[in-house]
Amino acid sequence: MTFTPHGKHLIAGEWIGTEARFADEPAFGPVHEFSMGTVDLVNRAAQAAEEAFWSYGQASREARAAFLDVIADEIEARAEAITDIGSRETGLPEARLQGERGRTTGQLRLFADHIRKGDYLDRRVDPALSDRQPAPRPEIRMIQRPIGPVAVFGASNFPLAFSTAGGDTAAALAAGCPVVVKGHSAHPGTGEIVAEAVHAAIAKTGIHPGVFSLIQGGRRDVGHALVQHPLIKAVGFTGSLSGGRALFDLCAARPEPIPFFGELGSVNPMFVMPHAAQARAEDLGKGWAASLTLGAGQFCTNPGIAVITDGADADRFVAATRDALAQVGPQTMLTDGIARAYREGKQRFEARSAVTPVVSTDSQGRQASPNLYETTAEAYLQDHALGEEVFGPLGLVVRVRDAGEMERLARGLNGQLTATIHMDDADLEAAQKLLPVLERKAGRVLVNGFPTGVEVVDSMVHGGPYPASTNFGATSVGTLSIRRFLRPVSYQNFPKALLPEDLV
Ligand code: NAP
Repeated sequence: MTFTPHGKHLIAGEWIGTEARFADEPAFGPVHEFSMGTVDLVNRAAQAAEEAFWSYGQASREARAAFLDVIADEIEARAEAITDIGSRETGLPEARLQGERGRTTGQLRLFADHIRKGDYLDRRVDPALSDRQPAPRPEIRMIQRPIGPVAVFGASNFPLAFSTAGGDTAAALAAGCPVVVKGHSAHPGTGEIVAEAVHAAIAKTGIHPGVFSLIQGGRRDVGHALVQHPLIKAVGFTGSLSGGRALFDLCAARPEPIPFFGELGSVNPMFVMPHAAQARAEDLGKGWAASLTLGAGQFCTNPGIAVITDGADADRFVAATRDALAQVGPQTMLTDGIARAYREGKQRFEARSAVTPVVSTDSQGRQASPNLYETTAEAYLQDHALGEEVFGPLGLVVRVRDAGEMERLARGLNGQLTATIHMDDADLEAAQKLLPVLERKAGRVLVNGFPTGVEVVDSMVHGGPYPASTNFGATSVGTLSIRRFLRPVSYQNFPKALLPEDLV
């Protein structure tokens, strides 16, 4: 099935075209034109979202859960067309898009069940103490309430699960917050068809149409106007450190600053402990190469750095990684710009005398082939650029002298989404010493695995100290992510009839 986008914005239930257009950059197939976003559309969408909030924010949990379920059904009803346009726009294989669609509908249904259960409300009741001296205490109850309209920016590498109806949108809608999505210019047609699914769900459930708008991008001032709009009360963002930081700063500089939940990049270090290296250096090298090149390395959880004690086991580990990477051919990247940035990242490594190439490839156009480098802990700690994410299949081995230097290196790390320990039983003592450092650095710590997959569950933390995210108290994946779009309100001395339905 071939999907041909009409190229319009969805503003509060109406498909609207604008005169200025931009073209998408598909990996293959026809190019399509899309209406460019405008500041006026941002205004209209934000006002409609505010109007919708008065009913949607007060709607029953069951009404919101049913809405989320119907969005998931409507996405499934468009399954083939979504895969068609998604694979053309991003170059991702069809199987990957099918899997991501399942993850997206799974997230929507997970949030529907989560709000039906109601635990997320964190209800607290302190009964009245009418005989307390010297003054009686009134009854105080507390509950989490939705915060108001939320702006959502998705990332290029998850055109479904971290985009139009992805995790941020699902969490905000579940909380009771209307959403204004700034469409990603790397997959505007995919954004459009997913918005059609949300539009259909709004019509079927009778929800206020202002609860969801999609403004296609094309111009940076659209995103700037959105995060600065006075009716927007929080931003969910998934993307690069530079883009996230620019929008975070705008949020902080507003007359009324608002929270900016930015999920950014990370190099996701792996620490290979000595006994594990001795026992299975080859397997670890092969496993790393597979994780590093999955999806052309275009994952925020890509393990870009392996830290290992120098010596014969490290040599075996590097050789196995090198040999496995040699089997991986060029892969198509998400956009021309990302392919260009990957080549620039590679040049950054090759320009440094303290960095030795192990695998050095040339990539053309939108293709990327793996690259592997080596350096020392000393060089790594002195050079901040070596700790910056290169989005793509590029790995760096950092050789340390001993456990002490491994720990010093860990202490010098920036905030990370993940940190991994590869260990055997005999490595336990060394791992115990490393863990308190890694807990301070990363949102998720793994043992004997690779961090690329992120489970959507209650216990997942996908976040971490800056620059992995802009808010270390939050996660963007799993049910806990709903907390970003809620705030606690206390109700003191309330008659039952006036209490919110969920608090009675
Ligand atoms: P991106 O270039 O930052 O784009 C994300 C969104 O932000 C797009 O809508 C983009 O608009 C907008 N944007 C970027 N810079 C902006 C600026 N200066 N002003 C206003 N808007 C701006 O990121 P990407 O290339 O899509 O995604 C790749 C990055 O995302 C990687 O670094 C990856 O690690 C990270 N990522 C993180 C997670 C996570 O959960 N932590 C998950 C996936 C990806 P345009 O449409 O106009 O470009």
